[in-house]
Amino acid sequence: MPGPKVLVAATGCKLNQAEADLWKAWFVQNGYELAEDARQEASVKVCLVTTCTVTGRADRSSVALIRRLHRRYPDAKIKVTGCGATRIPERMAALPGVTRIIGYEEKENLIVPLRYGKDSCDVFVISRNRAFLRVGEGCERRCSYCVVSRIRGPVRSKPKETILEELHALHSEGFGEVVLVALNLGLWGQERGESLTLLLKRIEQEERGVPRIRLTSLEPDTVSDELLGVLATSPRFCPHLHIPLQSGDDRILEQMNRPYRTKEFSRLMNKVTRMLPDACIGTDIITSTPGEDEESFARTLEFMRAMPFNHLHVFTYSARPGTPMANMSSKSVKTPRERTKLLRAEGERKSFEFRKRFQGKGREAVLLSPTRALTDNYIDVRISHTSRPVRSLVDVKITEVTPEGTIGIVK
Ligand code: SF4
Repeated sequence: MPGPKVLVAATGCKLNQAEADLWKAWFVQNGYELAEDARQEASVKVCLVTTCTVTGRADRSSVALIRRLHRRYPDAKIKVTGCGATRIPERMAALPGVTRIIGYEEKENLIVPLRYGKDSCDVFVISRNRAFLRVGEGCERRCSYCVVSRIRGPVRSKPKETILEELHALHSEGFGEVVLVALNLGLWGQERGESLTLLLKRIEQEERGVPRIRLTSLEPDTVSDELLGVLATSPRFCPHLHIPLQSGDDRILEQMNRPYRTKEFSRLMNKVTRMLPDACIGTDIITSTPGEDEESFARTLEFMRAMPFNHLHVFTYSARPGTPMANMSSKSVKTPRERTKLLRAEGERKSFEFRKRFQGKGREAVLLSPTRALTDNYIDVRISHTSRPVRSLVDVKITEVTPEGTIGIVK
């Protein structure tokens, strides 16, 4: 007899998405049936929401999602977990339909032991067509605006051999690409005297099939020459680096407690473009932090224009209670929305220039759907319908690039 229907919904970062997949596995192992299509399922008995709390907006999205689920499934029991549930449990518990808050420790105890592979997790429940593999957790850094590292604790890294076994398992499930995910991926293995470079070298030596590997965000000071060397010489790794800048003004970087200044960042960018000339370089910038006056913002805009970024995430600062920056006055910031808008527009221009460089050229891509593929260097390409299996790797030729998007064909 089929078990009760459960719907797992995630907000926020790739780590949250990876944890949502583990939750699906946990529910299946515990006798539940996954709701296939949220819009058509009338018999959902349980909803689990993994919440994000990185900004005020993330909190509001998590709350809105819970309210929406309650309206759609008024009889379902809603369980809430993730960073939001740990930071503001009372607020989450007071929402309609919420019957349980699963805090950080409990969540870690339940889902961390789960592994992709036959022994402990024989059902693959990844709803996307690239897998996000959680390889580590935590961060000891204390950037003054960041609440997440204060919730998720110190660095704990999954052992290399376990990661390799999971990569084999995901490969045999047809995944052409796996994204390695951790809160601070560049610190992987540090607690055991290992390093991310060591892990990538081990993956590179593997003779059994493993999927193409993409890395999530790397803090600038963790991107060593050796790491860039591995990425530059092995086709197993995507030429795609996401390296958060956060501000292009040294005074603000100091306030943020970031361990680098623009000079070092710029040096790193030179190295990346020299060693990986076709790589997509993404970054994060936070605008309108307390103390970001007109001059600081102008310096950020100028620095960002000078850097070889191709993909930008721009966030407007919002104070997170419990962080040092939350106690600082933000009187100097007059136009937060305009600042964010200006940087985003600049980011779009840079993305267009980057994509144009590849017009008429071929790239390896993972099929996200019969009409959509993502290249190794992170270009999202609309393709004419293909019958090749989604999740697999294909060669795509880019035929047209516009400010709005990229079009191509499967070769
Ligand atoms: S490195 Fe990233 S996760 Fe760690 S404290 Fe800074 S912003 Fe937060």
